[in-house]
Amino acid sequence: MSDYTPLDEISTIRDAVKAGFASGKTRNVAYRKAQLLQLAHMVKDNAEQMVSSLREDLSRPRLEAYFLELGAVLKEAMIAYKKVDKWAAPEGVPFSITTSAMFGKVYKQPKGAVLIIGPFNYPYWCTLTPLIGAIAAGCTAVVKPSELSSASMKLLVELLPKYLDQDCYRIVTGAIPETTKLLELQWDHIMYTGSGMVGKIVAAAAAKHLTPITLELGGKSPVIVDKSADVTLTARRVLWAKMANAGQTCVAPDYILVAKDKHDALVEALLETYEQFYPKAEGGAAESTSFARLVNQRHFERVQKVLDRTKGEIVAGGETNATTKYIAPTIVKNVSLDDSLMEEELFGPVLPIIPVDSFQHAVDYVNTRDHPLALYLFCNDHKVKASVLEQTQSGMAMVNDLIISAGVEGLGFGGIGAVGMGAHSDKTGFEQFTHRRSTIHVPAWVDLLMKFRFPPYSSRKEST
Ligand code: NAD
Repeated sequence: MSDYTPLDEISTIRDAVKAGFASGKTRNVAYRKAQLLQLAHMVKDNAEQMVSSLREDLSRPRLEAYFLELGAVLKEAMIAYKKVDKWAAPEGVPFSITTSAMFGKVYKQPKGAVLIIGPFNYPYWCTLTPLIGAIAAGCTAVVKPSELSSASMKLLVELLPKYLDQDCYRIVTGAIPETTKLLELQWDHIMYTGSGMVGKIVAAAAAKHLTPITLELGGKSPVIVDKSADVTLTARRVLWAKMANAGQTCVAPDYILVAKDKHDALVEALLETYEQFYPKAEGGAAESTSFARLVNQRHFERVQKVLDRTKGEIVAGGETNATTKYIAPTIVKNVSLDDSLMEEELFGPVLPIIPVDSFQHAVDYVNTRDHPLALYLFCNDHKVKASVLEQTQSGMAMVNDLIISAGVEGLGFGGIGAVGMGAHSDKTGFEQFTHRRSTIHVPAWVDLLMKFRFPPYSSRKEST
């Protein structure tokens, strides 16, 4: 508890970042670039400590820490650093003979002092990537990381003040009471990443002040495996994406819908890949340094309970250890659509495989559920690809690969419907925290052309 920000200090911290914004220093793009570089230095200089904190919180393997989190943050910071001059520049309007004299322009104004709330699973990426967007846009910010990844949270508390301007970028730590206090205050934008249940609490709190929000939530992201798919490639990529961070990834493939004819071949390929990833001779996943653990006892029990209730056939894994919060990478075949594994977002290392008649059957099923954060399709048939993408909606869609779209420059990261609204990463992060202010500057002589607008109105004026 002592690691948490005292409740009576929270509004003072909010007032401080409001004053930081009012000081006007974040309007200066050179200042923003200096802060973005500082953030990049923070990650670079302290990468090893960050890797250790991720190991402490989630037993996160080193490669995953770099590839899926720290490297991704660094890349975001450097993209924003290089592009912010262009992003922040005013935009002209298309030429028009009747309005060009009014010098229409869109100015990119920072929204103000913003609140960023993060989840436990990617404690750096989910707080620092939004913060990069806020800094680039010229906002000041308070960051509230998850209390569940406490080692990462403590490291952020130590590092942020060393690298970033404390007048403008502050951190508040805590759990529900501290976040509730933050949400009672007025902000100029709130970016929240976490569960949908808490997303509704955030949205309700923001509505009281009519504060704009970005919600990055979770859900069940499906993998559709068409009969034209390469099963070996599918197995390798899906198993990696599912088991990274022990399944605790918002865009993890939640379940597979596979064409009946391909079910057995896919299961076979997954088992071969499983043995390659976690060789039995080396102690399997339990002894592997390439496999993480559940974050805490509550999440361990949550996953254990749905696994206990499945009527599917466990063909790999299934072992658990409450003391170490270990749930083996688990593959369950012949799962039915009303199985326990199909109720909520799994957010753990369990992969259900559901045989379906055709890709159309898979699409119809996906369309009965909330739109997913990511939709994954494995196929080598252009018509199937076009049809699936045309008939479905999702935050993001990836064909023949998974979860790595956030690494593609120019692409934002965000949901739709129950998995969120708005996005971050690259220019989209900047845009969330920016107000596009439409502006004109009209010379006196324009009245020669537009004098007709002034009363008294007459039928002669109406006819012009
Ligand atoms: P969570 O909702 O439990 O917690 C997220 C944040 O909200 C934490 O900072 C926490 O302190 C705070 N919080 C928790 N309960 C609260 C309450 N009652 N009132 C106010 N604040 C509260 O989420 P989590 O378990 O940390 O994260 C897992 C979820 O986040 C999964 O559903 C996952 O899919 C989703 N997620 C989404 C994305 C995305 O980009 N879309 C990224 C990562 C995680």
